[in-house]
Amino acid sequence: MEAFPLYSPEEVLRDALFDRQGLELVIKRDDMIHPFISGNKWRKLRYQLEKARLEGKEHLVSFGGAYSNHLLALAAAAAKFGFKSSAFLRGELNQPLNDTLFLCRQFGMELIPAERQQYRDRKMELFQQHFGHNDKAFLIDEGGRSPLALRGCAEIIDELERPYDHIFVPCGTGTTLAGIALGLAGSEIVKTQAAHTTRAEGIAVLKNAGFLEKDITELFKTAGSSGRQPKFRLHLDFHQGGYAKSNPAYLSWLQAFHRRQGFLLDPVYTGKMLYAIFQLAEQGYFRPGSRILAIHTGGLFGLLGMKEQLGA
Ligand SMILES: *Cc1c(COP(=O)(O)O)cnc(C)c1O
Repeated sequence: MEAFPLYSPEEVLRDALFDRQGLELVIKRDDMIHPFISGNKWRKLRYQLEKARLEGKEHLVSFGGAYSNHLLALAAAAAKFGFKSSAFLRGELNQPLNDTLFLCRQFGMELIPAERQQYRDRKMELFQQHFGHNDKAFLIDEGGRSPLALRGCAEIIDELERPYDHIFVPCGTGTTLAGIALGLAGSEIVKTQAAHTTRAEGIAVLKNAGFLEKDITELFKTAGSSGRQPKFRLHLDFHQGGYAKSNPAYLSWLQAFHRRQGFLLDPVYTGKMLYAIFQLAEQGYFRPGSRILAIHTGGLFGLLGMKEQLGA
C-alpha cells in the first residue's frame, strides 16, 4: 500500500516549571500527521490496512463510540486508500450527528447503531450478522487494537532525532504504549545510549485501569517479541475522574495551556497526559537534566465534544 509521508516534528515546549528544574520537555507532534487520520490512529491502522489490501479485502468494518477518533481516522483512511467502511456505533445514532460522526459520514462511512449491551458483549456476533456473508469484509478491532498496530507505533522510536530519558503517551487500550515498548526493545538509539535508560510511561485515561498492565504485556508478546517482558510504567491516578470525564481544575489548566502554548490538546487523552507530566514535575518526579518526550497522539476533535464544559 502506498503510504503517505509522515510529518511529526519534535518541538521543545518552553515552560518556567521545566526551566527551573533543568528539565527539557519535547512534544512529538503526531497530531500533525494528518488532520483526520491523526496521531497514533494512523500508526495503528497502517499495517492492518496493508494486510487487508494483501488479502484482497475491500470493506473495512470496525466499532466505536460517538466520539471515536479511531472511527474518524478509519473513515478517512478507507476513503483515501479506496476501501468501503462501516462502523458499529455504541448506542443510538442521535440526530443531528455530532462533529465526529458528521465527518465520518463525509468520508462515506456507514454507521450502524448497536444496542449498548450487544455492543459490549457480542461484537463478533454483530459482525457475523451483518458481514458474515461478505468475503471482502475486513474486521478491525475497537480503537484499532491489534498486534499489527504495535509495529506501526514502534516506528515512533526509529524516527526520534535523539535519546530521551522518559517517553510519555496517554493510554486507552495501551496499544500505543506497548508499541513504544516494542520499539525501545529493538532500537539503535537506546542501544547506543550509555545506560539503556529510556523509560516508556503511560498515563491511563480510564479509571481503575490496572488491567492495562496485563493487556500491554500480552499485546507485546503476541507482536512477536520472542518471550521478552516489555519495560514500561503505568500511571493510574491521572484520569481526572474517568474516561472522557473532567473537572474544573483540569479544564482551566487546559485552557491556560492552549493560550500559553499556541497549540491544542484533546481533553480526553493528550491533555490528561500533559497535565500529568506537569504535576509529576511539580512533585519532583524527574531527575534534574532529564529529557522528556511526550507524544501528541492527535485526536483534536475530542475538543469539540467538550464545548459545554469548556464554556466556549
Ligand atoms: C485512541 C487514542 C489514544 C489511545 O491509544 P491506545 O493505543 O488505545 O492506548 C490516545 N490518544 C489519542 C488522541 C487517541 O485518539
